[in-house]
Amino acid sequence: MTVVEELIDALGAETVLVGEAVGERYRSDASLSGRVLPIAVLRPASVEAVVLALAICNRHGQGIVPQGGLTGLAGGANAGDGEIALSLERLSGVEEIDTAAATMTVRAGTPLQVAQHAAEQAGFLLPIDLGSRGSCQIGGNLSTNAGGIRVIRHGVTRDNVLGLEAVLADGTVLSSLNKMMKNNTGYDLRQLFIGAEGTLGIITRAVLKLKPLARGRQTALCALESYEAVLGLLDLARRELAGLSAFEAMWASFFAFNTQGLGLRFFEADYPFTVIIEQETRGDERDTEGFEAFLGAALEEGIIADALIAQSEKERESFWAVREGAPLDRLPSLVNFDVSLAIGILDEFAAACEAELLARFPGAHVSFFGHVGDSNLHIAVSVGDGSDETLHEIDAITYGLVRKFGGSVSAEHGIGTLKRDYLGYSRSAAELEVMRRIKSALDPKGILNPGKVIPPG
Ligand SMILES: Cc1cc2nc3c(=O)[nH]c(=O)nc-3n(C[C@H](O)[C@H](O)[C@H](O)COP(=O)(O)OP(=O)(O)OC[C@H]3O[C@@H](n4cnc5c(N)ncnc54)[C@H](O)[C@@H]3O)c2cc1C
Repeated sequence: MTVVEELIDALGAETVLVGEAVGERYRSDASLSGRVLPIAVLRPASVEAVVLALAICNRHGQGIVPQGGLTGLAGGANAGDGEIALSLERLSGVEEIDTAAATMTVRAGTPLQVAQHAAEQAGFLLPIDLGSRGSCQIGGNLSTNAGGIRVIRHGVTRDNVLGLEAVLADGTVLSSLNKMMKNNTGYDLRQLFIGAEGTLGIITRAVLKLKPLARGRQTALCALESYEAVLGLLDLARRELAGLSAFEAMWASFFAFNTQGLGLRFFEADYPFTVIIEQETRGDERDTEGFEAFLGAALEEGIIADALIAQSEKERESFWAVREGAPLDRLPSLVNFDVSLAIGILDEFAAACEAELLARFPGAHVSFFGHVGDSNLHIAVSVGDGSDETLHEIDAITYGLVRKFGGSVSAEHGIGTLKRDYLGYSRSAAELEVMRRIKSALDPKGILNPGKVIPPG
């Protein structure tokens, strides 16, 4: 029997899609870099089915790529030639909300928004939040250690996971659905799978931390004259706003491009930096007064040049619409970078990056924005040509500077295939070697997401 015949025999035809039934949507994640359709798509609806699938694939040495909501931006969920995809879409649903422990036990294929909604219904906040919430899945969020816009307050996905269950390449189930805050019993194995992008095991279930639901929110758009002022505002916000939940900076060219594209105008003058500050609160009058006092102090100390406080949800959404930057998507062959650098040198890096890209590609669009409070910078580049050669050159310039400035080539989107060749810019040879050893210990035949994340030795 071939591996696919054996899978159909063990799992049933409704779990194994082949031929015409393998739809186009299984070709690629949101990076649109997937080139081939998987030879079959497995859609297990239980952990037992995942175990069977992996045991069979392992026996055959069959490459298998886990697929969540396919919103990833690093090519991590794309199948290579002759590989099988394992989609978690049917392993979905919230199993339990434990109000005493403030935890949610959830299956990996649950869309993030469904899990968020279930938490809210129970009076809690699920702190993980990203723009792709309607499609991305909890398993994908864990596997990429997703960030998002609430990291400054609640940490990255990794910080919100208490327990995890994963199936290893040979079908062994590692189940540690721990709900306890304190558990110092040897190696913290769950962390191996968080951020591993499906190369070490298939995540099947998780226990996530829940937080109290915020009842109020204040949002301001601040104009600033310099990056030093941005740093001053961040320092003041960290000291004064206990519920600081977003600190998003936009460099001048990003802000101008998107406000013009959206037909919006906020300030009389143009400023080098604009920052969105948001805080989540218990919703009483004192929180609003405290927020206004904080902005008043920032104005008085000359840290901010101007500020607007959102007076309505509509106004708040207009601030965030600029940050979400939809007009950028109209630029030809847009390349988005997601890098990390020490907060203090973000602007120095941005200036060097802009200068180097414009020297090579005069007239290109280069703009910067990001979760500055989390040291995360996004860079939008469009030179008008999307050939592989040009894209490679843009990558080489940008990642070369990230290496020079001691940063990370991926802040939140992961490595996948698209950044694999640059992993060594942010990790030492010794670290890469330990990654290879862990991979071969857990997946000796190399069947799980072959060729992803770790560059060949
Ligand atoms: C509009 C938009 C906004 C976004 N905003 C953000 C953002 O703010 N912050 C951020 O970090 N990312 C963001 N992303 C990127 C993306 O949404 C995240 O990386 C997300 O966590 C991917 O989840 P997914 O379920 O779609 O995973 P996929 O894309 O399906 O897979 C991602 C990786 O995880 C692996 N994988 C998936 N499920 C499992 C599993 N159960 N077990 C083992 N491996 C698995 C895959 O093999 C692949 O390597 C955004 C994407 C879009 C399109």
